[in-house]
Amino acid sequence: MRVKRVKGKDRRLVPIPDELRDSLREVVTLLAEADADPEIYLDFDDAIQVGALCGGRCGPASHPFVFTYFPSGDWTRRRWHLSLHRAEIEDIAEGRMVEILMYCCKAQNCQCKFRDESYDCFYCDWENEEDVQRFNARLAELAKRVASKEDGIKGYLALNPEAGVSSVIADYNPIRGLGERLGWFTVDEVETLLDKCRRSAD
Ligand SMILES: [Zn+2]
Repeated sequence: MRVKRVKGKDRRLVPIPDELRDSLREVVTLLAEADADPEIYLDFDDAIQVGALCGGRCGPASHPFVFTYFPSGDWTRRRWHLSLHRAEIEDIAEGRMVEILMYCCKAQNCQCKFRDESYDCFYCDWENEEDVQRFNARLAELAKRVASKEDGIKGYLALNPEAGVSSVIADYNPIRGLGERLGWFTVDEVETLLDKCRRSAD
C-alpha cells in the first residue's frame, strides 16, 4: 500500500507555455458558449476537455476552474495542477498574464507543478508503507533526543532533505510528547528555522 507524505515544493513564477495559453483560449470560447446555453454543464471534474487540458468548474469560489494540464510529449511527471478564476483564464488567454506562481516538485526527475501548496504529487508524495514506518520510527527516535525546536528542524532535515513547511507541520507536530515538551510549531516559525538550518548547513 502507498501512503501519502507530502514533500516541500519550490514556490516560483513559471512562464506560461504557448500550448497552455492556446488551450485556455479554447476554454474561453467554451465558457462563452456555456453562458449562452444553460444545457452546457461544466460543474464536474472532467467536464472541460480541450487541447492539453482536462478539468471543470468544481473548485472553491476563489479559483473555481480546476484543470490538469498535460504538456504534449512525455506526460509522466510533467503534469500541472491548476486552479484558476475565470478572470485569470481570460488574462492568460489574451496574453496579459505571462507567468504564474506555482509550487514545483523538487525531485530532479519530476516537473510536476501545483497552483495550490496543499496538492500532492502522484509521483513524489506517495510512498511505500514500510518506508514510511521506518521513517516514522527514526522520527520518534529523533524526538526523544532533541533539546530545542531548532535542533528538531536540523535533525528533521537530515531525515528529509526536501522538507517544506507543510511536511514539518504534518510529520513533526503530531509526535507524541514533543509539542508538550518544546511547544508546537507555527508556519512562520518553521519557515524561519528551515531557512536558518539550511543556510548554516551550506
Ligand atoms: Zn513530483
